[in-house]
Amino acid sequence: MIDLSMELQDYDMRSLKTGIDRLDKPIGGNVLFVKRDDLIPFSFGGNKARKAFYFFKEILDGEYDTVVTYGAGSSNHCRVVANMSAKYGLPCYIVSPEENYQNTFNSRLVGLFGAKIIKTPVDNVSACIDTLMKNLESEGKRPYFIAGGGHGNLGTQAYVDAYSEIKAFEEESGVKFDCIFHASGTGTTQAGLVCGAALCGDTDKKIVGISIARKCPRGRDVVVKSIDDYLQSIDYKGAIPDITFDDSYVLDGYGRYNDDIVSVAREVMTNAGIPLNTTYTAKAFWGMKQYLERNKICGKNILFINTGGAPLFFDDMIGDDI
Ligand SMILES: *Cc1c(COP(=O)(O)O)cnc(C)c1O
Repeated sequence: MIDLSMELQDYDMRSLKTGIDRLDKPIGGNVLFVKRDDLIPFSFGGNKARKAFYFFKEILDGEYDTVVTYGAGSSNHCRVVANMSAKYGLPCYIVSPEENYQNTFNSRLVGLFGAKIIKTPVDNVSACIDTLMKNLESEGKRPYFIAGGGHGNLGTQAYVDAYSEIKAFEEESGVKFDCIFHASGTGTTQAGLVCGAALCGDTDKKIVGISIARKCPRGRDVVVKSIDDYLQSIDYKGAIPDITFDDSYVLDGYGRYNDDIVSVAREVMTNAGIPLNTTYTAKAFWGMKQYLERNKICGKNILFINTGGAPLFFDDMIGDDI
């Protein structure tokens, strides 16, 4: 008999490869390309979907029967993890800090997928996760824990592999990217890209994480730690590219935006048909524009990674005065 589940799983991993579009409109005298990780074909895509494929491969291969994760119900991470759990028929528990509950399209989707949300004060989160894992185990379950945001070496691996896709594009097209920009949050996306560049021998590649919330030094330290953890796990001791984690554009923190960021999101959707959102991608795009100007970068090939968050685009449209 054909093992269909295995075939589907392999198909899913192959489907992670996303395209790179060249935009018609230059940006500050540079040619702009966008890697469409927002189009990963599962649960509205995005970097959390890319990471989740790796976690679910481990979950299915290891015959775990329950998924536990951490994050706000309104997060892209929880939406994707709850959706994959539902797809594979696995109960999903989400430990959420009770302080920042928001009713958004993501939180509604999490509800639709039947995930069980356990709210707890933010300083009780790790104790709550420990107790939940122990309780599930004592009931005879095999729970698998996915860190918030898909943090950890597997999440980093997802973007090491994404870097290989970028490298393959460069080799096929003859276009070399001078700078890669993306929205940086918990740091695994950036860590993966930096490690991927190191492993491809591209130690001069400029990878700029535009922070969407965290300030330096903490935000950058977390990226550095993720890089160290990953490179240690594969026993790599060679050179790596510089790490640029720019916190100049966070405004007052996570989810905060201004009129210019809204304009960027409207403009890119209207002119290129590419959705950005004010929490992550439009904020990073806005930061990238200023970074290019400030550093007088001109006449280069720039790659922006659209890390997704499609449901947030619609949250941004609600109550809008268009
Ligand atoms: C989580 C997220 C990021 C940040 O990714 P990290 O790996 O946490 O740095 C960027 N964009 C979107 C849309 C996200 O959901």
